[in-house]
This record gives sequence, structure tokens and C-alpha cells, in this order.
Amino acid sequence: FASLANAGIRALRAYDPGHDLVALRRAAPRPLLELGSNENPHGASPRAIQAAIAALDGAHVYPDPLGGDLKRALADGLGVEIADIVLGNGSHELLMQFAQVFAGPGDEVVASQYGFAVYALAAQAAGATLRLAPALPPAHAMPRGHDLDALRAAITPRTRLVYLANPNNPTGTWYSGAAFEAFLAGVPAQVLVVVDEAYAEFVDAPDYASALPLLATHPNLVVTRTFSKAHALAGLRVGYALAHPACVAVMERVRESFNVNAPGLAAAQASLADAAHLAASLDANREQRQALSGALRSRGLAVSPSQTNFLLVEFGDRTARVEAALLARGVILRPMGGYGLGDCLRITVGTQDDNARLLAALDEVLA
Ligand code: PMP
Repeated sequence: FASLANAGIRALRAYDPGHDLVALRRAAPRPLLELGSNENPHGASPRAIQAAIAALDGAHVYPDPLGGDLKRALADGLGVEIADIVLGNGSHELLMQFAQVFAGPGDEVVASQYGFAVYALAAQAAGATLRLAPALPPAHAMPRGHDLDALRAAITPRTRLVYLANPNNPTGTWYSGAAFEAFLAGVPAQVLVVVDEAYAEFVDAPDYASALPLLATHPNLVVTRTFSKAHALAGLRVGYALAHPACVAVMERVRESFNVNAPGLAAAQASLADAAHLAASLDANREQRQALSGALRSRGLAVSPSQTNFLLVEFGDRTARVEAALLARGVILRPMGGYGLGDCLRITVGTQDDNARLLAALDEVLA
């Protein structure tokens, strides 16, 4: 059937989620330690869960196609207008739709080597040509991070879209607010710049700045965010993009009317109202991220600097063996071969107990 698909899809390989987690869970003798998908182990706000359950009472009717209440809460919290927001079934859906809407055959989409895998999928699915800018070298202070000069240099008259993530997955690296402003100033006004801020809430680096405040002055800027990470609602699939109202209006042409379901809308809104839960979750992640990277480094492993809830760790020629041996012990990490990083594994920062179990298993495996 591949030959029947449109040209972009023909060359496409489906997104690789790493493992068949359902099959692994079914076969596991004891609970798995799942550190492969950058989920938030501290869990969602109990108020968000209650709101989702309450929303199930209305399961026989369609959800609000405009997501008005959630958008109002987002707009108030972020200091934007409702017309600046488009909701997605996760931010993944929106990342795909930006390319579907703004790029096509003959057009180019620019992303960074080691940028999040969905950018390449989005470009290819739209039939556009992907141009990958080289990343910063592994020895850089931001190993394999986005090289904004290289990204700028990869833009041609055919470029319609640039995707970049701050911080980036899978590297965990980030770039400074000042560097991004300089980059944006050099991007032609007709090129849409999509900044993926899926992990923005986790950041505490003083040189980091969200691209949000630049939206008001840069109509070609888009920022995507998600409830999957800091808000720990990955299973309910809610993301959003902030953009110029005219850009949002075009995106609305392809958005499936009921793309965000009612429990998702309700949970996301309730989660925004539970600032204390979010703050506690972010504190716990920060503390555990620091502790885990320290523990891994003390074992002689190279750990990329990270402002997220995961760490990119180099295991060299032991990588495949370590991954398999950990899997045999019920510990799931993310192999990085698909990114051309076959000597690295990506590790989600767990709870204190999760990380202790990971380190104990790792010590057995590395012994
Ligand atoms: N952007 C980045 C950088 C991610 O890592 C992820 C999830 N792994 C997403 C977007 C998509 O997340 P979601 O669809 O759950 O919002």
C-alpha cells in the first residue's frame, strides 16, 4: 500500500515510541520502571483527575469544539488573547499540522540534527523537503544542542518553517533568550518559526527565556506547549500553540472540531488552577534531576546538561548491552539509535525511589 500513498508519506517511517510498553507490562513479573517516555512520575493534580472523572458524566455529548474555558484559563495565565491559542490533541498533533498547513512539495522545512523526531515526520508527511542543520558538537558546553547560526544558515528562499525546541528532546539542552532574539531577527518574516516549549516549565537556568514575550512583536513566531510533561497529563492528550491570530485562524481550518476530548479539557483547566501541585512537581523534578545526574556522573558516565525531566547519557560501546540488561531487570530506558545516537540512552528523571532502583540495576549491569 505504501506505493498508493502520497509522495511524502511513501518515504516516511512511523514515529518510533521505543518499546511495545503494553506487551512489556503484560509480560513483566513485577512493575516495570518506565523511564523511556519523559512522563512525569509525580502524577497529575488530584483536582485535574477529579475534573476528568466528572467530565465523563457528559461522555454522550461532544466536547466544546472551541475549548473556550481552557483557552480562557490559558490566556489569563499567559497574558495572551483567546484568539492567539489553538488547542491540539497533544502538541504532537499541532507540530504535524503546522507543516501540513504551511509547507508542501517544493517547500523546505528546517530543523536541527538531534531535534525532536516529529519535526522530520511533519515535514515529510507534508511532502516538503527537510533540511537538517548540524547541531553543536558533542564537546560543546551544550552537547549536540541547537546551533542557531547553523539553523539560520540553512534557511533558503524555499524555507517555509523552522522547528526548534527549547529545551530540546532528546538532548535536554537549551539556548539563551538573547541568542534566540538574535536568531529571530535574522529570519525572513515569511518563514514561520515554531518553538517547541514542551519542557519549558521545568527550566530554572537563568539564561533561559521562553519565546512567549516575543509573540507580540513577531507575527511569524509560534510557541507550542503541552499538558503532557509538567502537568503530568500525557494520557489525556492536550497541547496548545500560541501564535498570531491570523496564523491561528488558518490552523483552525484543518483542526478536527473535537480534537481535544472533554476529560482532557476539564483536567487541563483544573491543572492550571492547581499551582501548588505544579510547583511541588517541578521542585521534585529539579531535585531528582540534579541528584540523578550527579550519581550517573560519579559512575564515570557523560551526562548532557539538562533543563528537562530527562537526561541524555553516553554509554559508548556498552549501550546496547546496558539497555538490554536493564530491560531484563524491568527498567525501560529509551534507545537513541533513531536519532543517530546509538551510543546514548535517554533516561527520564523518576521519583527518588525510581532513581534508586535505576541506579541499583545500573550498578549490577556495569559491574
Ligand atoms: N515536543 C517535544 C520536544 C516532546 O518531547 C514531546 C513528547 N515527547 C512532544 C512535543 C509531544 O508531546 P505531546 O504530544 O504529548 O504534547
